This record gives sequence, C-alpha cells and structure tokens, in this order.
Amino acid sequence: MSILFHDIIFGPVRSRRLGYSLGINLLPTNSKICSFNCIYCECGWTPVNTPLSKFNSRKDIFSELEIRLIEIKNNNEPLDVITFAGNGEPTLHPEFSEIVDDVILLRNKYFPEKKIAVLSNATKLGNAKILESLRKIDLPILKLDSAIESTFRIINNPPSKFDFNKYINNLSNFKDKIIVQTMFLRGEINGQKFDNTTEIELNEWLKIVKPLNPVNVMIYSIDREPPAKNLVKILPDELKLIAGKLKAHNLNVMTAF
Ligand code: SF4
Repeated sequence: MSILFHDIIFGPVRSRRLGYSLGINLLPTNSKICSFNCIYCECGWTPVNTPLSKFNSRKDIFSELEIRLIEIKNNNEPLDVITFAGNGEPTLHPEFSEIVDDVILLRNKYFPEKKIAVLSNATKLGNAKILESLRKIDLPILKLDSAIESTFRIINNPPSKFDFNKYINNLSNFKDKIIVQTMFLRGEINGQKFDNTTEIELNEWLKIVKPLNPVNVMIYSIDREPPAKNLVKILPDELKLIAGKLKAHNLNVMTAF
C-alpha cells in the first residue's frame, strides 16, 4: 500500500536514519512527482502525467514551515533535523533553490543548531543551480542503488532516454560532502531476476562510491509494502554482513533496520 504525505509540513516523525525529522514536502499533497519510478517506492508508482502546477507554492511552504517551527519551539517538541522529503523528488520543484534559501533562513532564525537534510535521487545534479543548492544543505543524502546499469534500470526504473553514465559522473561532481543512500533488495520483475547484494554488485558499487569520499553511507532495505510484487527484503543479519564488507573499505556505514 502506498503512503502519500497529505501535508506540506509533516512531523517531526521518528526516522530510521535521521532521528526526529520535520519533513518538508515540496511535491503535491495528493500525488507523486518523480524522475524515477523505483520498484520499492513507498509513495507507489509514479503517475505518467502530473501537472507541474500542482507543486506546493514557495509562499505556502515558507509560511507553513515558519508556523510549525514556532509551535515546535513553544511546545519543546523533539527535533533533530529538517528534511526535504515527501511525495517524490524535491529537486524537481521549479523554485527548489529559492526554497532551500528560505529553509536555511528559517532554520537559522528558530533552530540554528539543527541540521537540514535532503533525500534526493540525484537526477538533477547536472543542473548547476540545483547542484549549488544541494551543496548548501548540511546532509545531502543521494541515492545510488546499483552501479551496474541493468540492475539500476530494474530497481529505479528511469525513463528509457535516461543517461546512466552522466548520472554516475554527476555524482562524482558532488564528492566530499555526499551521503550515499542505497536500498538493498532482490527479487524478480517481469521475469527478470535481480539482486544488488552480490559480490559483483558490491564491487562495482565500491568502485563508484569510494572515490566520492562520502561522509556517510546509509544502507537499508524494504520497510513498507512496495508497489512491485516479488521483492525480497534483506533482513538485518544480511544487511549487517553487507555493512561489514563496506566498512572494510573504510566507509562510514549507517544501517537502518
Ligand atoms: S526516487 Fe524516491 S520518490 Fe522517486 S520513485 Fe524512487 S523512492 Fe520514490
């Protein structure tokens, strides 16, 4: 069953990876917009056409965030991080850069010691303005589920014209501040078996990720029921084994169960 966020600002919710996270949903509150169509997406399948006008407005985002930050402060609610998340890919918002500046301004005003995070699929890193905005964010958490194109295409299901090599190169442009996020899973889609936990997969992934010198690597597996059938969740013991292999290459690995 898919879960959509029906508010612009949601939480703070206890996140497996970030602690108490106040979510900012730049996407529509009743549908998903994304440049991928991941087989495990908690928001369900990506609709073919969602009008761009349905993005939440910069003005509404600013005012709703400010109201909620004041409430959190007055009520002494727990808060660790303010996170761009929600119903799809936040960098697709036409005013993403301006909104990042707004959120930094409000964070500095009400909770200067808290961090700002973004969960992004990294498809807009080729856009200089968006790259610069992502680099302003304390915790830029960028997705790389497989370094092997055929597996990547099964798991993340990008449009057919998607340029995989460019995507990988663009990740390299982001090095030194990046937090890499990888979903591990296996299964079968349209008769094709896949598994991004094999030795070959991990070795190829390491070839891309190690030179990025990531601050952190977040690994996890399916948590809620995915839209695709026949997917297998990687259980904590196996995820710990994968984490051990990655740590052996001097990566800081954070595992979410
Ligand atoms: S990139 Fe994120 S929002 Fe987009 S389909 Fe994949 S999991 Fe869903």
